[in-house]
Amino acid sequence: MHIGGTSIEAVKGDIVTMEFDAIVNAANSSLLGGGGVDGAIHRAAGPDLVHECRLLGGCKTGQAKATKGYRLPAKHIIHTVGPVWRGGENGEAELLASCYRESLDRAIEVGARTLGIPAISTGIYGYPLDKAAKVAVDTIAIFVRDRPGAFKHIALVCFDAKALTAFNAALEAV
Ligand code: ADP
Repeated sequence: MHIGGTSIEAVKGDIVTMEFDAIVNAANSSLLGGGGVDGAIHRAAGPDLVHECRLLGGCKTGQAKATKGYRLPAKHIIHTVGPVWRGGENGEAELLASCYRESLDRAIEVGARTLGIPAISTGIYGYPLDKAAKVAVDTIAIFVRDRPGAFKHIALVCFDAKALTAFNAALEAV
């Protein structure tokens, strides 16, 4: 999909190996590392990452904070805290949309023009994949439409075939 000079696509792979200016981390509110993609990013970036994270004082659900990328190919990491799925009537969609908007804002602030984003909240936090993919794609589409030229490329990085199918379906529905 192309909007306002930005290409947006779903790709399958391990986000820690990918050569974007910045990648987004689906972190927890401590920002001190965890399981899933968060653990993979901390392992790949090396121990200096957690030292910088300690200085940030955590992060609220729906917000995002940037650090350097350390040993990753990406120069910057944008850490965002997705909502835990509690049935869908507890503000989950608005909080998840906020994660994407805040992550894109932080990415612009650090000068990133290419960005890789994992499927925030869809692992340990239990957000249903199809619903999360729709929030992700719709939020990103509106954001880049309002800021033409801010990003060259945004990749929705899916860890498995099921996630890739869900994100491709959401992209086709825009
Ligand atoms: P959350 O706590 O926000 O649910 P998780 O890390 O548990 O975060 O899962 C978020 C998504 O990231 C899931 O779809 C999971 O399959 C995916 N994921 C896990 N490891 C990686 C990785 N190395 N690269 C890309 N995506 C990953």
